[in-house]
Amino acid sequence: MSDLRVRFAPSPTGYLHIGGARTALFNYLLARKLGGTFILRIEDTDVERSTQESVDAILQAMDWLGLSYDEGPFYQTERFDLYKEKVQQLLDEGKAYKCYCSADELDTKREAAMARGDKPQYDGTCRDLDPRDDDAPYVIRFKSKKEGVTSFNDRIKGTISFNNQELDDMIIQRTDGTPTYNFVVVIDDAEMGLTLVVRGDDHVNNTPRQIQIYEALGYPVPEFAHVPMILGADKKRLSKRHGATSVMAYRDMGYLPEAMVNYLVRLGWSFGDEEIFSMDDLIEKFTLENVGRSAGVFNPEKLLWLNEHYIKTGDPQRLGELLGEYLTTLGHPPTDGIDLAEVVKTLQDRSKTMVEMAEKAVFYVTEAVEFDQSAADKFLTAEQVPVFEALVAQLEQCSFDAEGVEAAFKTVLEQTGLKFGKVGQPTRVALSGGTSAPGIYEVILVLGRERSIQRLKDAIARIG
Ligand code: GLU
Repeated sequence: MSDLRVRFAPSPTGYLHIGGARTALFNYLLARKLGGTFILRIEDTDVERSTQESVDAILQAMDWLGLSYDEGPFYQTERFDLYKEKVQQLLDEGKAYKCYCSADELDTKREAAMARGDKPQYDGTCRDLDPRDDDAPYVIRFKSKKEGVTSFNDRIKGTISFNNQELDDMIIQRTDGTPTYNFVVVIDDAEMGLTLVVRGDDHVNNTPRQIQIYEALGYPVPEFAHVPMILGADKKRLSKRHGATSVMAYRDMGYLPEAMVNYLVRLGWSFGDEEIFSMDDLIEKFTLENVGRSAGVFNPEKLLWLNEHYIKTGDPQRLGELLGEYLTTLGHPPTDGIDLAEVVKTLQDRSKTMVEMAEKAVFYVTEAVEFDQSAADKFLTAEQVPVFEALVAQLEQCSFDAEGVEAAFKTVLEQTGLKFGKVGQPTRVALSGGTSAPGIYEVILVLGRERSIQRLKDAIARIG
């Protein structure tokens, strides 16, 4: 075990999106690589926008991606007493103060500042007031440093410095008594012993404020690593306009978690020109040093390409179990007697997603084959009847394996004098409903003797 402690700290105000999942993954990989501890903390202080549904969605998505955590989930809403204590500590030490400025006053000042071309900042009206003891509503502000610079050495971006003048006295407790993000994040990261904070670079500007809070509360400051944003193809911040941004939406569209993990890691991290990484490879190879400084661009084609790769090379047994779930979602729960691993073997070279595979697999598991009209018109004709009858006779007695089925076809070809295509393609239509099914011997073996014979008989009846 190393003493590295990292965390993922999502706000449960929606599903787990691509960017959040990548942050979680990077933290997970560092913890696993270095024998550290990965903590999950749910940042639900925004009671209005946080929902249990969103917490569940985030937990489910992490589970799907295989991002197991060692501690947590911790909920900030269960830690309000601690935060209150820390607010009081800062008040007692003169490092925070009550601010009675009304929202209207602040608005007026903000507008005036903007009209002058100044950056709107709290002007410090209440900073040096003598303590008052009345019922007027107040917020609590942190007394930030007014001189000097606050800087930190970001593990990805290098040294980043802020003029303390730029940082106004931020609110740490709202009028309703609830604490704010920039305050509680420090308390939690410190109390949970975080040694490194890896998060999206939309938090860079919060960091100097947070560092001042660490210092005011006497906590050691952890290291920071801010990961560049993810953009859409148009170089704008990734959003719904660019397609699905929810991780679980990709599961629903038939993506495998290993494809998603492989894709996410490459949005910002590289290892030479390698593209394919299993989770174990990543745990071995991932380092912050190889995280780039520029934004990653979301490329759905590449994700699809990776998915195709993982489907092609996946373990049929496992993919078979997943296929069962996708078939059920399509309204075709798998029938008894069909070995889904065998179904997978016939389709994994021809499916880019599990949904596509399930659509192609429906004919195996359905009781009533749905016929493609033009294929049926073309191939299920009266002249096929004696051919199907001959095939049924052979299938009834052949040994039911690859050689046996092939021999059955051979006999039928000899009996009828037809070329293979004249027998194979109509048979494919009879068994699958269309012309694009996998190899006909495979289809017969997967369907089984009974089902194959029954479908040929049904086709004969249909022609009749
Ligand atoms: N809860 C914050 C968010 O979801 C993350 C805070 C942090 O990583 O420091 O953006």
